[in-house]
Amino acid sequence: MGMASPQPDGSGHPPLPELELDNRAFWTGGGRGELLISRCAACRRWLHPPVPVCRYCLSTDVISTPAVGTGTVFSFTVNHQPWMPGMAVPFVVAVVELDDEPGLRLVTRLTGVEPADVRVGLPVRVVFEQHEDVWLPLFTPREAA
Ligand SMILES: [Zn+2]
Repeated sequence: MGMASPQPDGSGHPPLPELELDNRAFWTGGGRGELLISRCAACRRWLHPPVPVCRYCLSTDVISTPAVGTGTVFSFTVNHQPWMPGMAVPFVVAVVELDDEPGLRLVTRLTGVEPADVRVGLPVRVVFEQHEDVWLPLFTPREAA
């Protein structure tokens, strides 16, 4: 997944991903409120980051599929370094394991939570932050069921 070169535009958000054929659905699904994750239509395994060929069964029948959008914090780090001028710090970069399948994880940023309140296992749900034509999938705590 390529990242665009940082632009010193003072926009206060991290560099946006470059949209490519394989990752476009993931970065734009938020426009419809959907967390779109690649899923193999042959063996039904989820695949992230997006890839054109299933790593489990080598099928090319990989389809962007709406995930449930909930998960738990698998690991996290508190970042005190602003990626961009004007970006608020500290912020939490987390690996979230999605509820759709054990081991299906993505790297994201947490929002709506103080860094001191983040813990492994924290239940979270996706929220989208739009920048230009990209909807960044961020995660925020959800109430315990
Ligand atoms: Zn497969």
